[in-house]
Amino acid sequence: MTDLFDKHRGIAERHERMMSLGVNAVSLTNDRILSPTRAIINGRETVLAGTNNYMGITFEPDCIAAGQEALGLYGTGTTGSRIANGSYALHRDLEKELAGFLNRTHCIMFTTGYQANLGMLAGLAGPKDTIYLDADSHSSIYDGCTLSGAKLVRFRHNDASDLDKRLARSEDGGGRLVVLEGIYSMLGDRAPLADFVEVKKKHGFQLLVDEAHSFGVLGPNGRGLADEAGLEDDVDFVVGTFSKSIGAIGGFGAGNHPLFNMLRYTSRPYMFTASPSPATVATSLAAIRKLKAEPERRERLAVNSARLFNGFKALGLALGCDSVSPIVAVNCPDEVSTIAMWNALLNAGVYVNIALPPGTPGKQCLLRCSVSAAHTFEDIDRIIALFGEVVAQGHYKKAS
Ligand code: PMP
Repeated sequence: MTDLFDKHRGIAERHERMMSLGVNAVSLTNDRILSPTRAIINGRETVLAGTNNYMGITFEPDCIAAGQEALGLYGTGTTGSRIANGSYALHRDLEKELAGFLNRTHCIMFTTGYQANLGMLAGLAGPKDTIYLDADSHSSIYDGCTLSGAKLVRFRHNDASDLDKRLARSEDGGGRLVVLEGIYSMLGDRAPLADFVEVKKKHGFQLLVDEAHSFGVLGPNGRGLADEAGLEDDVDFVVGTFSKSIGAIGGFGAGNHPLFNMLRYTSRPYMFTASPSPATVATSLAAIRKLKAEPERRERLAVNSARLFNGFKALGLALGCDSVSPIVAVNCPDEVSTIAMWNALLNAGVYVNIALPPGTPGKQCLLRCSVSAAHTFEDIDRIIALFGEVVAQGHYKKAS
C-alpha cells in the first residue's frame, strides 16, 4: 500500500532543517494581540511589521461595536449558503455599500478573498475560454483558473509586450480573460496597468484586477490601482478582500456587466459554502465606511511606506521593487541567512514575514515587511534601526 504521505517526505525534511535552525515561522504564535502594531510573541512585546493591517483598523471601537451588535442581533453564524438561508439584510447592505464605494453597478461578496478569486475566475471562465495570468499571480488566482477548466496561458511578470505576443499567437475561440494584481503581495510592485490597457485596446479581452493589497490603499478614492492610474473604465472586474485594509475577513467581486448577478448562480465557491458570519459582515461594513470617511489613513500609510522604503535604501538593502508601496521586501542571498536574519529580528523585537521558495517569485528568499497607517514614525525608525543592527552583525549579504 502506498502511504499517501510519502509525497510529503521532502517537505518534512525541509521542515526538520528549519526547526534545527531554530525557526518555525509557519507555526509562530501571537500569544496576545495588543494593538494593530504590537503583539506578545515568545513572551515579549514585539513590533508587528509583517501583517496586512494596512489601515491599522482592527481595534477601532466602532468596528468592534458593530460586530458585537450583529452577534447579539443575528447570532453567531448564518448556517447556510447565500443561495439558501444564508443571505441576510447585512450581506445585501455590504454589497450595496461596496458597489457604491467602488463606483460599480454590481458587487457580490464571498466568505474569503481566496474564494473571491476562485469564485470570480471559475464563474466567469469555462472550458472553452482562455485565462491569461501574470506568472507571479497569487495561488488563489491559479486555483481559480484550475477550477474554471479554462485554458491557462502564463505571461512574464508585468510584461505587457509578452502578453501582446501570446494573444497574437493564440488560436482560442472562446472568451479571453486577463488577470492582474494591483500590488503584488511578495515584492510590492504594481502592475503597469496603462501598458496592459493598450494591449487590451489592440486585442480585445476582458480584464480582471485583483486589488487585494491595493483596495483601500491606492488611488484618490482608495479604490486601488485602477483608481490611482485613472483607468477604472478599462477594468471589467475587480476582486478584493476584507482581510487586509478592512481588517476583517471575506472577499468580493465587482463589475458593471448587465449579467454580473448571474455569477450568483454559476459560481460554485459562492454557492456551495456558508455565507460570512454576521459579526464579520457588520465589522467589514463599518470599516468600509471608516475608510471612506478617513482618507487621512491612506495618506499616513503612504508617508510611512516611503519612510521604511527610504530607510532600507539608505542601509543599502536590495529591495523587491523600485516603487514605494506598503509592502517592502528585502531580498536575501539564501535560505540559511534569511532564517538567521528573521530569527535575529524576532529576538530583537520585530516580526516580519519570512518568504521562501517555492512560494516566492523567481525562487527569491525574502524578508517581507509591511507597513500600517497605525505605525508611528518611532516604530518605522525602530524597524530600520533593527535591520541596520542585523546587517552590522554580518547576517546580510546582498543577493547577487
Ligand atoms: N489575492 C491576493 C493577491 C492575496 O495576496 C491574497 C491573500 N494574501 C488573496 C487574494 C486571498 O485573500 P484572503 O487571505 O483574504 O483569503
